Amino acid sequence: MKTKLLVLGACAAAILAAQNQPVLGEETVKVSEHVWAIMGWPNIGIVVGSRAVLVVDTGLGPRNGATIARVVSKLAPGNRTLYLTTTHFHPEHAAGEAGFPAGTILIRNAVQEKEMELHGKEIVDLFAGRSAEFKELLANATLRAADVTFEKDAKLDLGGVTARLVSFGGAHTKGDELTFVEPDRTLISGDVVQNKVVPNIFRDGGTPSSWLAVLDQIIALNAMHVLPDHSAPGDGSMVALEKKFIADLRNSALELKKKGVTADAAGTQLGNECKTKYPDWPSMNVAGFVRSIYAE
Ligand SMILES: [Zn+2]
Ligand SMILES: [Zn+2]
Repeated sequence: MKTKLLVLGACAAAILAAQNQPVLGEETVKVSEHVWAIMGWPNIGIVVGSRAVLVVDTGLGPRNGATIARVVSKLAPGNRTLYLTTTHFHPEHAAGEAGFPAGTILIRNAVQEKEMELHGKEIVDLFAGRSAEFKELLANATLRAADVTFEKDAKLDLGGVTARLVSFGGAHTKGDELTFVEPDRTLISGDVVQNKVVPNIFRDGGTPSSWLAVLDQIIALNAMHVLPDHSAPGDGSMVALEKKFIADLRNSALELKKKGVTADAAGTQLGNECKTKYPDWPSMNVAGFVRSIYAE
């Protein structure tokens, strides 16, 4: 029997195109033995066990949530418990919850739950103002409280596979959540580990150094597969590369700061340098991250 594991080179172009699609399709790719993904904006992780299924992220609005629920019922027929968690509180990751069936158990870390309470509705309104399509997709979005919250770590035994949900500190947002699937050693990494994407701190989410501290904890997990939310899946080397990128950028920016170079000038200069150092990254707009380095 042929294993249909994701072959990166062959799918890279299709994945890049899917990455901007806010209306999710029903097609899945297999990331590892128990993990499937719907590729889109954002990628959705589906972890299938013999007794229960975990979905990571909801898509933008209830229509996408309902699409994911249909995909789950095909991937995992029968009456399995359905868990839902979200990588962070932003609408394309969390505002599709209303599309999931009644009885879905919503679980997320306490810091993220707090961000959702404080800013969830505000960001849904902000996103709805971005385009007519977003407005329509978010029209019936509701943000209900989680059924279960946890502080640092929660383990879900799905039957033959375990999902460990962790909150390691602030990076893209304060309540970034990661899911580590065992025995697959698959990390569902949200915005915290991406594939050739410049990191982005949302408002006062994390700091460059807290992001590095989060990455040190992720490195200890020793992931073999990584499924990020806004870029193509890859192998465990993505974690070390993310750390190297941030650490190098931080060192270079701090040197320029010491010399009295302004944050904006440093952003432009380092963006140009990074284009040479990382020629295959689609965009090298580091200005925002450099400002965060200067501000810390
Ligand atoms: Zn986000
Ligand atoms: Zn996102």
